[in-house]
Amino acid sequence: MAAPAPPTGRLAPSPTGLLHLGHARSFLLAWWQVRARGGRCLLRLEDLDRSRVRPGLGEACLRDLEWLGLDWDGPVVLQSEGAAHLHAALERLRSAGALYPCVCTRREVREAASAPHSSDGAAAYPGTCRGRFASLAEARAHGGGAAAWRLRVEPGAVAFRDELLGCQAVDVAAEVGDFPVSGRDGQIAYQLAVVVDDARSGVDTVLRADDLMRSTARQLLLQRALGLPSPRWYHVPLVCGPDGRRLAKRTDDLSLTALREAGVDPRVVVSWVARSCGLACPEPLAAAELLPSVDLSLLPAEPVVFDPAAEGFLAP
Ligand code: GLU
Repeated sequence: MAAPAPPTGRLAPSPTGLLHLGHARSFLLAWWQVRARGGRCLLRLEDLDRSRVRPGLGEACLRDLEWLGLDWDGPVVLQSEGAAHLHAALERLRSAGALYPCVCTRREVREAASAPHSSDGAAAYPGTCRGRFASLAEARAHGGGAAAWRLRVEPGAVAFRDELLGCQAVDVAAEVGDFPVSGRDGQIAYQLAVVVDDARSGVDTVLRADDLMRSTARQLLLQRALGLPSPRWYHVPLVCGPDGRRLAKRTDDLSLTALREAGVDPRVVVSWVARSCGLACPEPLAAAELLPSVDLSLLPAEPVVFDPAAEGFLAP
């Protein structure tokens, strides 16, 4: 039997905050996963949300990833530069009748929602604008010139396989309802952008943190609607602080940039990640030195606790 083709994966940081140890862990795993199998690793800066992108952070992300010892194939892709492809995909969905215009504001959605809150804290959209307008022009006239586009979601569970966690089922209709593929300001939503960009660049392996697990079902619906292949998905647990809360981008003192600028040896960070992934790593090793030992079956299923007090590398 022919050996499976080497995978194509990607690192897709959003330059909206400094990267932290949780990112270090998922990016190292994503890189190990494809490089250990002789695959390609692309780098895409997800800079679509102009209101959240902060100047200089894209550059800092790249320096942090290089500092960790990661590399990538081809030029860094800026998601914003492929906007024409994203709008073309939206147009395909629209002409296939998969979308409808929506004029609801966030507040209206919150107030009208009768469904229980979904796991990520957002309320399911109750379908207020489904079938409400005959055209975009009519919706715009109603919405003070602005309208979003939502995907019609049929009731029932969306099933997919996670390569680490097995079969998953998410009831998108009940959890989030018809979801936006573009905002009222015309900006393409993350869910559509990630699907179009991964397919366009031939990504067939997506390894990322499991806070995006529930989004995967939405992405699958978009892949089906656009006739795009689905990648293999690997979702890995988040890193939490000793208080049990996930590390967030706002925790700047634990950021990779802060560690890098403090002169911390990146091999110490890499080795902490390796040990947290069940790999034997008795001495500090570089990312590439660990490639022969990569084994995702050793990955613990629970969130990883990072305790700065217990880890020497954050000491002043
Ligand atoms: N850019 C997203 C983030 O930083 C990740 C997107 C993805 O991996 O699908 O959360």
